[in-house]
Amino acid sequence: MTTSPLFYQAGPALPEVSHADGVYLWDEHGNEYLDGCSGAIACNLGHGRTDIRDAMVAQLDRVAFTYRTQFENAPAVALAEALVELTDGALEKVFFVSSGSEAVESALKLARQYFVATGQPQRRRFVSLRPSYHGSTLGALGVTGYQPLEAPFADITSASLKVPGPDFYRHTDADDASHVERVLAETRAAIEAADPGAIIAFVLEPVGGASTGARMLDRRYLEGIRALCDEFGCLLILDEVLTGIGRTGTWFAYQHYGVTPDLLTTAKGLGAGYYPVGAVLAREHIVNAVMESGGFQHGHTYAGNPLACATGLAVLEAIRRERLLANVAERGRRLEAGLKALQARFPWMGDVRGLGLLWGVELVADPRTRTPFPAAENQFARMTALAKEEGLLIYPRRTLDGLAGDHFLVTPPLTIDAQDLEILLARLERALTRLDAEVT
Ligand code: PLP
Repeated sequence: MTTSPLFYQAGPALPEVSHADGVYLWDEHGNEYLDGCSGAIACNLGHGRTDIRDAMVAQLDRVAFTYRTQFENAPAVALAEALVELTDGALEKVFFVSSGSEAVESALKLARQYFVATGQPQRRRFVSLRPSYHGSTLGALGVTGYQPLEAPFADITSASLKVPGPDFYRHTDADDASHVERVLAETRAAIEAADPGAIIAFVLEPVGGASTGARMLDRRYLEGIRALCDEFGCLLILDEVLTGIGRTGTWFAYQHYGVTPDLLTTAKGLGAGYYPVGAVLAREHIVNAVMESGGFQHGHTYAGNPLACATGLAVLEAIRRERLLANVAERGRRLEAGLKALQARFPWMGDVRGLGLLWGVELVADPRTRTPFPAAENQFARMTALAKEEGLLIYPRRTLDGLAGDHFLVTPPLTIDAQDLEILLARLERALTRLDAEVT
């Protein structure tokens, strides 16, 4: 038991961070860590950036905080316009928040209020995937499909209808296309059984994040879900809290698939670890209906404050100036090749999947049968500890229900250069070699 008053997690005491620069952090004992997961897939521009600091200090000197119903502020308007432009104008309206959970919570409430405003109050349920992660507040938790987080609160959340998404690693259908077809047919049947007229929205991550080890969807599936939403008259909410702002090599991951949502959430990478800022983007007609009914009955004190939005603007400018989307694509190809080469050496790296600089590795006891390791072995935690000993931070999880077992994410800052990526792969190789000695 630690003596610290903080209680973020059970488990051993953590090293105290000393300082950070670029893709590296150092602890109080001088140990160096390569940030192979951007903290929690948030610190997307790396650490210690003077351009972001300068933009923040300039805004602090002008005005740090104003309340959104008392003043409009230029950084908020500019950031909202910039976000709309990133969607090519497909989503015209923006509501700022301070975290991913708040973004999801706000999207759920906006969608519900839209149907109340337009005379369909009987729509009171969401559909989402199992497994999935959409945040830790009660509404966001209700659409989350991750058993350990859900269990203590199952009786007090308004749980969504949970359906499985495609599983391109384990399915036994003839091919991926027929698998997607079957999953879509089963999804339709589940919604029909639950009453399509009661559904507010389908919520999903276009590429899975922490709880699914970067589970991939594909264009056919997303087109199918979009078509189901249109047919049943419900909305499509894409949760891009983790995938948004360049992580997959496009501004938003949905742009790989050409399927546009009605509402979109984003957060983590927008403040890039320098200040909390998130947003809900929405189609204009949805917002107009809600505003005409008396306004959105929702909001958080710090939402859209000048400092948050100045930070977000500086982040977007850095991504453009440094052509980071191209860097994500190029480094992403090398990361994929590096991970697949490691998989060839260590077959218990059962599945390597991802896009851009969002990669997941699933660990299995038997690669032939794709059987997960026994849960009690905690291989995801062991792998993370070994990587940390080798000076590499990765993001671990185990999904108990649904498609994945032990897995970890490799999601370095979008700024990582060729040399640091080789160092990342070398440290990962050392950690995998040590785990190999334990599991084979
Ligand atoms: N949605 C997704 C897809 C996420 O990955 C996360 C966080 O990991 C959240 C929502 C919640 O974001 P936050 O931790 O900022 O509340």
